[in-house]
Amino acid sequence: AKNRGRNKFQAFTAELYDELQSRVRNERELRNAIATEGLLLHFQPMYRAADNAICGCEALVRWRHPGRGLVAPDEFIGLAEECGAIHELGEWVLRAACREAAAWPGQMKLAVNVSPVQFRDPKLALRVASVLAETGFPAQRLEIEITENVLLNNDSANKKILAALSAMGCSVVLDDFGVGYSSLGYLGSFNFQKIKIDRSFINDSSTKRARGIIQAITGLARSMDIPTTAEGVETAEQLSWLREVGCAEVQGFFLARPGPADMIHALLNAS
Ligand code: C2E
Ligand code: CA
Ligand code: CA
Ligand code: CA
Repeated sequence: AKNRGRNKFQAFTAELYDELQSRVRNERELRNAIATEGLLLHFQPMYRAADNAICGCEALVRWRHPGRGLVAPDEFIGLAEECGAIHELGEWVLRAACREAAAWPGQMKLAVNVSPVQFRDPKLALRVASVLAETGFPAQRLEIEITENVLLNNDSANKKILAALSAMGCSVVLDDFGVGYSSLGYLGSFNFQKIKIDRSFINDSSTKRARGIIQAITGLARSMDIPTTAEGVETAEQLSWLREVGCAEVQGFFLARPGPADMIHALLNAS
């Protein structure tokens, strides 16, 4: 019995060791990708609900992995946050996205996702300002998408950074609204320029419950003069209902999937 216990223990440490090794390798590969243009941006169009005009794009990062192909962000953003590489990754995303968007027509906004971990850098607003200066992309057309985690614990340092971004002329957008812990409180504690209703509600919008939630969110936002975006629109029915309910902007596979910069150029030239 003693022996078996020892074997188990050895198997356990071997497994742990493998895990650790693959983690170290992943981290090394990711840092390398950030430093060597191994990342890639896709852009997903956003449309004005009133007339279906394209009004901007959201930048979504992918990892061009030599063995695994195009890796989705859900598979590496967490790792980047844990190992601290998210700061470099985030700056790469912002710079590459602004460079690209600088060639778009003037009415086009650019939305960039910023991780809560990036807010641990007190110089974040300064870094954003310097990327804007470097690329010539106007702050007024940049939308910083954050999740409510940024305001968790009523963090005053983070609020200062948000206020600085606002003062520069950037919009601050509350992403994934409705799925967090106490979303409503955050609307009172910071002046967001836009709210994105989480995809999960749009997905369920054939149910009375999800419709109720969406109507409550849009009603609340309207009473605060904050426009809403519906993300994850996948059907014509969803689109027409969301328009009726008063969402200002819509985004989703039904309208356009995320794609490379060339796809956006083709779209803009066709319209
Ligand atoms: P998100 O910010 O909520 O972005 C929307 C995600 O929903 C994207 O997935 C997009 O491709 C997907 N999506 C859009 N329309 C539809 C639809 O109609 N149906 C369905 N099923 N999905 C739709 P993606 O590109 O895999 O990104 C996942 C998440 O990774 C993002 O969620 C965001 O939280 C994070 N992310 C992506 N790029 C970045 C980045 O540059 N920096 C940071 N910090 N996070 C990023
Ligand atoms: Ca987003
Ligand atoms: Ca979202
Ligand atoms: Ca999300």
